[in-house]
Amino acid sequence: FSDEEFFKILEDFPVLKREVNGKRLVYLDNAASTLKSKSVIEKMTDFYLNHYSNIHRAVHKLASEATVAYEQAREKIAKFLNANPEEVIFTSGTTLGINFLVNSLVRSGMLNPQDTVLLSQVEHHANLVPWVRLSKFYGFKVEYIEADDKGVITTDAILKAKLKNPKVVSITGQSNVTGQEMPLELIRETFKDSIFIVDGAQLVPHKRIDVKKLDIDFLVFSGHKMIAPTGIGVLYGKRTLLEKLEPFLYGGEMIDKVTFEDVTFNILPYRFEAGTQHIAGAVGLGYTIDYLESIGFEKIEKHIAELSKYLMERLLELDFVEVYGPIDDSHRSLVSFNVEGVHPHDVSHILDENFGVATRSGHHCAQPLMSVLARGSKIDFPNSTVRASVYFYNTKEDIDILVEGLKHIKRWFE
Ligand code: PMP
Repeated sequence: FSDEEFFKILEDFPVLKREVNGKRLVYLDNAASTLKSKSVIEKMTDFYLNHYSNIHRAVHKLASEATVAYEQAREKIAKFLNANPEEVIFTSGTTLGINFLVNSLVRSGMLNPQDTVLLSQVEHHANLVPWVRLSKFYGFKVEYIEADDKGVITTDAILKAKLKNPKVVSITGQSNVTGQEMPLELIRETFKDSIFIVDGAQLVPHKRIDVKKLDIDFLVFSGHKMIAPTGIGVLYGKRTLLEKLEPFLYGGEMIDKVTFEDVTFNILPYRFEAGTQHIAGAVGLGYTIDYLESIGFEKIEKHIAELSKYLMERLLELDFVEVYGPIDDSHRSLVSFNVEGVHPHDVSHILDENFGVATRSGHHCAQPLMSVLARGSKIDFPNSTVRASVYFYNTKEDIDILVEGLKHIKRWFE
């Protein structure tokens, strides 16, 4: 970004000028949820105050304005993903998207008791718990691409998993713990005949995904990790597959004809959007796409890549810090680490209280992965890590403040 461009960005995130605990806020908890933009919120407010109504049903003016805004948002998202609008389904977020897919695949006979679902060992609980729990009811098998002792998914591990012959491969595009961006081309290539699901919760906010080029069957993500409102997300599905899929949620709007005995469904994508949707949220996600494109998504990618590299370099300088995940270019936007001899909750707490730095500590909704990291750890691994994650409004100075904070913490605990 030029200085002028960056100044404009900062103006749009007023909370960045806030002080917390007497210090300028340094927000490095973006992998959990990003900050919100003033201009997106202003547009949403205008929508709520001047154009809001329920959609699709009534014939009055407001209903038509709200419906147009909602459908325009779908079109923007479709364009962003290189998909068709009827392939874009609004959900409440990634978690709903995955629950939807597991249930719908089973109901449609596309996932059967003799089948195997392949996940990786670095999955967020959102892409693990639904499969593991529903496998107990429906009898399919859950297998994993193994992570190495650093929590890295290697090419060898992916190729080895081919023997498992999975019906479904569901994998994160980028780990929320190790920051590793998964080699999606290689995975698709390796599992040509499998249904290929990508959890895009971390990757979509940072990297433009072309669903056609990557031949992704289903992609799910959440708006709140890319400056959009909470409670809105997307499930992209290939048209040919969506047409075969039984809905997960039943109710109003998703139907064509209903009798006391039976039901036929609406056309795509409406058959998958039962009940009143988060209309303003969807519209807000559309405005978010406009906003990110107006800044320049390629510039955002580049800025995040530079910051990620800097974050990793600075943390690797600290001999009292243990870093997890890949340290090469496959890591993106976040780093998980521990300070030797200090519990991650204490690290995170002190960073906030004394330096105004917001980070995340804990198992990051990836408990199974913690046991893998424990295996490779050279310290007394506390089954959790500290995670610092950047977005396009962060700076190298933010990272310097984090590093200074860590040095102080080490000294205090000596
Ligand atoms: N997958 C990954 C990789 C994530 O990072 C997250 C959020 N931490 C989720 C899934 C779940 O997203 P949500 O809570 O928005 O449903």
